[in-house]
Amino acid sequence: MRRLFPLLLLLCSCDDQQPAPPAPPPAAQAPAELVDTPEFSGHNAYTHCAAICAMGPRYSGSAAYETQLQYLEKHLHAAGWQTARDTFAAPNGVRMCNLRAFRSSTPAPLLISCHVDTKINIAPDFQSADDGASGAAVLLELARTLKEERVELIFLDGEEAFAPRMSDEDGLYGSRFDVARRGSTLPRWQINLDMVGGRNKTIAVPALDTSDAMYAQYTAAVKTLGFSEMKWTAWPGSYLDDHVPYLEAGVDSLNLIAVFSGSNWWHTPLDNMSRICPRSLHESGLITRQLIGQLLSADGANAQ
Ligand SMILES: [Zn+2]
Repeated sequence: MRRLFPLLLLLCSCDDQQPAPPAPPPAAQAPAELVDTPEFSGHNAYTHCAAICAMGPRYSGSAAYETQLQYLEKHLHAAGWQTARDTFAAPNGVRMCNLRAFRSSTPAPLLISCHVDTKINIAPDFQSADDGASGAAVLLELARTLKEERVELIFLDGEEAFAPRMSDEDGLYGSRFDVARRGSTLPRWQINLDMVGGRNKTIAVPALDTSDAMYAQYTAAVKTLGFSEMKWTAWPGSYLDDHVPYLEAGVDSLNLIAVFSGSNWWHTPLDNMSRICPRSLHESGLITRQLIGQLLSADGANAQ
């Protein structure tokens, strides 16, 4: 999440344009029951998001990060996925761990990713609800609903920089490690989710980081689902985010990320469950499922 923004994004900030709904219950009192439905459930994703936020800040190497890993593993295993932890150390010695989930040892052509670390030194009550937990929540609920689709899920560590701002040298530790670990066995496609649960969000995929073919898939998915083209749009630039290492390695990547620059909540305690809503998570799940179906359709699979 580097480069660009300022003025234009201020015009389409995520801040609500509608009256805020009643505040949700505190995370610890969020609905605990998961709904057993074959469809992607925004309620379930919201429940996961609240449970993760209740763990407190989940910065790299923290006890809460480990608690989160165990939570993710528990639900992935319950949905029939195998998991693997890839541990490594950042250059400053901080221990990091990516968590991968897969159904087969055969490499999948499509990788769905999110980051699950939270930025350090924000506040003791920092929930990082949208910037981290929302992506994990959508991936967990996707995991429950996906069956035979040839996808791999990865929950990345170290997206956040240790310094106040990300740079080419600081941040994206988990995604860079994963790309290096895979060597030449890279997926054909990647969809990265980041900040996908905010109320009234605007998703703005980075156009300069998106191939024409992938952009066509994205716009087709938006149209098929009947989503607003004003709320599911593109930004004519690039972001430094977890899609970049894959993109640079030749993976056809799509970064689903909400407008955040210029907001009053990003990397502050205001990024909490009060700005998350089940419908927003539901839409993010629906479009990811739609894209999975499109990419893995006969045409896409045969083109490998
Ligand atoms: Zn962040």
